[in-house]
Amino acid sequence: METYDTAIVGAGFGGLAAGAQLTKMGYKVALFEASNELGGSAGKYERGGYRFQSGATLGMGFEEEGVFHSLYQTLGLKPPPMTLLNPIMDIHLPDRTIHYYRDRHQWYEEIDRQFPDVKEKVKAFYDEVFYVGAMVDRLVHQLPIFPPRTVKDWAGLFPLMNVPSVKMMPFLTQTIYRRLQKFGLHRHSLFITFLNGELMDSVQTNVERCPAFLGYAALQTFHKGAYAVQGGLATIAEQLAEYMKRQGNDVFMRHPIYEVSQAGDLFNLKSKREKVFRSEQVIMNNSVHNLHHTLFPRLARQSYVRKEKEQSREAWGAFIIHAGVKEEVFANTESLYHQFIDPANPEGLHDGGQFLLSLSRPEDSFMAPEGMRSLTLSTHTDIAQWWMRENYESNKQLMTDRLISIVNHYFPGFAEGLDLVLPGTPVTFQKWLKRHDGKVGGYAPTGKFSWLNSYSVRTGIPRLHQCGDTVFPGAGTLGVTLSGLMAAKLISQD
Ligand SMILES: Cc1cc2nc3c(=O)[nH]c(=O)nc-3n(C[C@H](O)[C@H](O)[C@H](O)COP(=O)(O)OP(=O)(O)OC[C@H]3O[C@@H](n4cnc5c(N)ncnc54)[C@H](O)[C@@H]3O)c2cc1C
Repeated sequence: METYDTAIVGAGFGGLAAGAQLTKMGYKVALFEASNELGGSAGKYERGGYRFQSGATLGMGFEEEGVFHSLYQTLGLKPPPMTLLNPIMDIHLPDRTIHYYRDRHQWYEEIDRQFPDVKEKVKAFYDEVFYVGAMVDRLVHQLPIFPPRTVKDWAGLFPLMNVPSVKMMPFLTQTIYRRLQKFGLHRHSLFITFLNGELMDSVQTNVERCPAFLGYAALQTFHKGAYAVQGGLATIAEQLAEYMKRQGNDVFMRHPIYEVSQAGDLFNLKSKREKVFRSEQVIMNNSVHNLHHTLFPRLARQSYVRKEKEQSREAWGAFIIHAGVKEEVFANTESLYHQFIDPANPEGLHDGGQFLLSLSRPEDSFMAPEGMRSLTLSTHTDIAQWWMRENYESNKQLMTDRLISIVNHYFPGFAEGLDLVLPGTPVTFQKWLKRHDGKVGGYAPTGKFSWLNSYSVRTGIPRLHQCGDTVFPGAGTLGVTLSGLMAAKLISQD
């Protein structure tokens, strides 16, 4: 039986980034994926002539010096064709549409139009966003192991504690709401509605609960470059897996790992039909929610991750609709991404109060048959309601009707133009992506110091690491790719 240097559980973007990077470094790697698709929450499936994106639709980090740009350069790969979005999306509110431009100059002009009474304050706020966001980028791109768990991790952080990082202190110790107070914007309901929508979409929380540095980093990322990738983000996942295979490493599809245990210096990974694989190191990319369900109990008890504490942490689920739609329904808009926010929604920013519509490019023949486009509607959802079986089907129908009717209000003809409507709930995410209880998108920040509760790539078990959206720096294909690279760095250092 072959023994691998590193086994990776889960071919999400975290696992793929770690696998590709370790492959480049010359490690013998095996990547195990439970499903028959790569990319996890940023993957795809195909049905009825369409390609549907399982979750993520907006690509980030492909600009010069961006995370994927650098990774592709390291690997010597050519990125797939993609469209740089400007505007990134149109944000539909009952009384207006905000064009959210990537280009800073155009965005500041849009601020003049949308927030004329406070335009200088909003621009000053955005100046701060860009300034702090750039500092956070510089720190995170050095792949610090955070939160530090060992003397070596602390030693790695020490050189980063220089003058610029000291300047970050206020943003590490305040929420976005606190910063808005400083700018006199904390009572401006339109601007707060807008910001809450963008923060929910990127950091899974609102201005009151979002640590300033995290929110700023997310907000400025939109302006560095958001992309619609040809064939969807799954194309990236496929390229990374292909790279691993071409270099002689193994990617095992339909290979759920049921149990990871330790035997002497090696780990045993039990897969289907009781097949066992051996490896010296392991990276878990199947989310911290699943850690205790995958590790042999004696091994799991060595971890820093306390089962009860982990289970009590706030995380969202996603309600999602995939469908085809006739091209003519969106003939009057060039934007591929549309966000709908209902400031009066009693539920707040989830369960339809805020949701995103992503459309495939008309000319992207990977995604839909001619004359049609593939679309995704997605909203955050409270998980518990979906595990009450008696209301499941009726709740699913209600939410489907609700989202479709809202889009139909802004784009008349939408409901009639639909083809093959496929709703998905946290139950679907558990079934297909093995996310425990259907939790996706990592942990929702709950206050100014919530980032200190992050899980690091270290699990506390020597030579067994973790990456993905439940690990620092958190969700989004960018964040999980960084954590995958951090895990690879850790392995190369140990
Ligand atoms: C609805 C939605 C919309 C989103 N939109 C965006 C967006 O537009 N842009 C963006 O950047 N991000 C977006 N995100 C976030 C982004 O998709 C995720 O943060 C990221 O893809 C998570 O990657 P991950 O590495 O944590 O792994 P995951 O995507 O969770 O993948 C884990 C993989 O592990 C596999 N697996 C699980 N258990 C096992 C096992 N025991 N053995 C083997 N394999 C296993 C799963 O099948 C899965 O393929 C969105 C997320 C959702 C849910």
